[in-house]
Amino acid sequence: MSARILDGRVVAAAVREAVAADVGGLDYTPGLATVLVGDDPASHVYVRGKRRDAETVGIRSIHHELPGDVESAELEALVDSLNLDDGVDGILIQLPLPGELDSEAMVERIVPAKDVDGLHPFSLGKLVLGRPGLRPCTPSGVVRLLEHYQVPIAGARVVVVGRSFLVGRPLAMILSEKGVDATVSIAHSRTGELVPLTTTADILVAAAGVPALITAEHVRPGATVIDVGMNRTEAGLVGDVDFESVVEVAGAITPVPGGVGPMTRAMLLANTVRAAQTRRGLPDPIL
Ligand code: NAD
Repeated sequence: MSARILDGRVVAAAVREAVAADVGGLDYTPGLATVLVGDDPASHVYVRGKRRDAETVGIRSIHHELPGDVESAELEALVDSLNLDDGVDGILIQLPLPGELDSEAMVERIVPAKDVDGLHPFSLGKLVLGRPGLRPCTPSGVVRLLEHYQVPIAGARVVVVGRSFLVGRPLAMILSEKGVDATVSIAHSRTGELVPLTTTADILVAAAGVPALITAEHVRPGATVIDVGMNRTEAGLVGDVDFESVVEVAGAITPVPGGVGPMTRAMLLANTVRAAQTRRGLPDPIL
């Protein structure tokens, strides 16, 4: 039997609708600043999408583009000015930065209150401490998707393949938080044989960046499979999951494209409203 498709486009649209309603109820317009450095075509596409999303829900988009050979000091000065700009509630630096620019240092330069990507050490630290804060967009998008389709998380055995600070590790943290209550294992490039581990999973998340890493033999029949992978190949954009074989074994599965990607974009909007409200000492309408 074919798995149920978890449609990220549908859920992302619902998140955008909720954010738009929240923004409509505010007596100010939240602002999202995007910073794009260099001419990487994929980065341009991503940022264009994020700006369009923001405008769709009533968030003001403030965009800055700098050449790939910009001096670090110039980029730092831009981040500093956005930090101080009262009309800017969220700052997103599109990663990776080109050339010699230090992505980590630049993200750390953002004031944590405007860290809508949730990747500042302060935000990640709050996550580890189990305190409320801005969560990274992809992991929180995965959780929102599971919640929307009422996939049981509490008590579930989850295996996350991938341990990056962007996806795997924060996702494992969120899923194992008190109140979310999954039991989580993390696999990575040194794990060795994956099958004995991944077949224990009620929810299997692939976030390795390896096309078709997860095949039917990795999946326990009936499990939910979340494909975070976005790999550009000659065949186009593919995930980390061999969709054709896994769809026959899994109980539910996300497609690529149209699964986790749209959720990541939608959660950026939710984070921007959250940041805007928190910065003003007002209750978060999304919670
Ligand atoms: P990364 O390269 O930083 O991390 C990959 C992780 O996978 C590493 O921890 C590594 O140990 C692990 N890994 C690699 N090969 C493995 C293997 N053979 N077996 C087990 N583990 C293995 O990548 P990332 O930034 O976490 O991104 C992962 C994938 O998710 C990429 O395809 C990326 O494009 C995609 N991504 C998608 C979204 C989205 O919105 N859908 C967002 C971010 C990243």
